[in-house]
Amino acid sequence: MMMNIESNFVKTIMEDDLASGKVDEIITRFPPEPNAYLHIGHARAIVMNFELAKAFGGKTNLRFDDTNPLKEDTTFVEAIKHDIRWLGYEPDTVLFGSDYFDQTYAYAVKLIKEGLAFVCDLSPEEVSQYRGTLKEPGKESPWRNRSVEENLRLFEEMKDGKYADGEKTLRAKINMAHPNMNMRDPVIYRIIHTTHHNTKDKWCIYPMYDFAHPIQDAIEGITHSLCSLEYEDHRVLYDWFIEKCEPPHTPHQYEFGRLNIPNTIMSKRYLRELVEEDLVDGYDDPRMPTLAGLRRRGVTPEAIKEFIISAGLSRQNSTVSIDMLDTAVRNDLQPKTKRIHAVVDPLKVIITNYPEDKIESQTVSYHPNRDDFGERELPFGREVYIERQDFLPEKPNRKWRRLSLGEEVRLMHAYFITCNDIIYNEDDSIKELHCTYDEKTKSGSGFKGRKPNGNLHFVEKSTGLSAKFNMVGPLLIEDDEDEDLSFKERLNPDSMIVQEGFVEPSVKDAKPGDRFQFMRLGYYVVDKTSSPEHLVFNKTVDLRGRRRKK
Ligand code: ATP
Ligand code: MG
Repeated sequence: MMMNIESNFVKTIMEDDLASGKVDEIITRFPPEPNAYLHIGHARAIVMNFELAKAFGGKTNLRFDDTNPLKEDTTFVEAIKHDIRWLGYEPDTVLFGSDYFDQTYAYAVKLIKEGLAFVCDLSPEEVSQYRGTLKEPGKESPWRNRSVEENLRLFEEMKDGKYADGEKTLRAKINMAHPNMNMRDPVIYRIIHTTHHNTKDKWCIYPMYDFAHPIQDAIEGITHSLCSLEYEDHRVLYDWFIEKCEPPHTPHQYEFGRLNIPNTIMSKRYLRELVEEDLVDGYDDPRMPTLAGLRRRGVTPEAIKEFIISAGLSRQNSTVSIDMLDTAVRNDLQPKTKRIHAVVDPLKVIITNYPEDKIESQTVSYHPNRDDFGERELPFGREVYIERQDFLPEKPNRKWRRLSLGEEVRLMHAYFITCNDIIYNEDDSIKELHCTYDEKTKSGSGFKGRKPNGNLHFVEKSTGLSAKFNMVGPLLIEDDEDEDLSFKERLNPDSMIVQEGFVEPSVKDAKPGDRFQFMRLGYYVVDKTSSPEHLVFNKTVDLRGRRRKK
């Protein structure tokens, strides 16, 4: 099931631009900064850039915005490439902002020559003091009226490493009284003496995003440069640089609303903090809202796409419930995962009237609508495990369709059993149950004599494989508006509960990434730490969404 992108305001702009002949084809780009892993919010930008271009037979580049060498790293470059391919997108070209450092430098020189840029000696603190406020105009830098010759010489010296970090900047000469603060002589080049992941030590001056981005878009022939809403106030500056630099192609910027999900951290800075302070097990911790984390949790790329597309694209930021993603995951996995028996919180049951050494098995299909999945043997014997939550000593009410003392239930693909006795541990917890089975009720025999008090899944003890289950829950507890806690104070202590239990023997050769539906429980995926000797599963999502309590 692959959704097509519905109509949205950007698609309409593209249609109009093609119809009017303003552009002949659609070329977009996704421009991540390689300073962390991608998160689910980025999925909106990725899906929209790729799907919109695809809808018109256009192209999408992946361009790493790597103009700040202090924060960027090749491991993030590789992780981002991998995540985009995992989502099912193949960039037309993979590029780096740093590929254009020569051209970007040449455009800066052009601005200097035209009296539109100057080398400024103010410190970063002074630059912000001079900038003014939204209500008051800024003050012009005392270095603003340097001659073109002096500016050219100083800028070259900056490039040649004559000055220390922060000692000088190159600034555009626009208008210190402009109502839009971004237009008040913005810095366009700064000095950073450090090794860049691509260009190594070739440069010690680096362009600012606002200057570099429109130039990169222009060089690549990007027609629609899509970005999130916080760049709206930068568009005039984007257009100013294009107008003054006069590149051969004119790109245009369009802003869309950001995707927010309640109780979900969607800022690389915070995600990075979680990882660097070891509060999670890396960027791919299954609790993380990173694409790598979602993947390890078993979420499918198809579900992420469906979620992003069905949430739509508007000019406003939007908040979308994570329940929508969970629903998309269930809809995607329902027809395409094998259904098996697993007991995540085992309670031992002894069938006292069943022979000691006998094991019998039923041939059971993996999925009611998928003959292609085949069948497996599901063993049954004298000792089985059921789910602890499927037993209560006393039937609490008439709706209890599970096991209680004196009640009879069906063990799916086996027999009806009746509970006769509860054996307790010294601490009064339940140790095991003693039950009896009725031979006549064998599954598949067509027995219609009576109705059991529910259907339970089980795993036979001697053939079951022990397994560990990571019960992945929300990383953050709900934000209480009155308390105003920091995100670290909101970390959910129960976000990952590890349980030990059993799975049926057919799962023996499951590989990391294999997904299953555990009957009556939910969808699970084999974790990367799993081995045939030590199976480890992560819970992807419950079988049904819980009703939200008021
Ligand atoms: P963060 O704000 O999480 O630190 P970022 O915006 O700094 O992320 P970039 O690498 O600059 O990260 O993002 C690449 C692209 O993804 C940008 O075009 C940005 O607008 C877009 N993007 C990032 N987060 C979201 C979001 N929550 N919703 C929609 N688009 C997003
Ligand atoms: Mg950003």
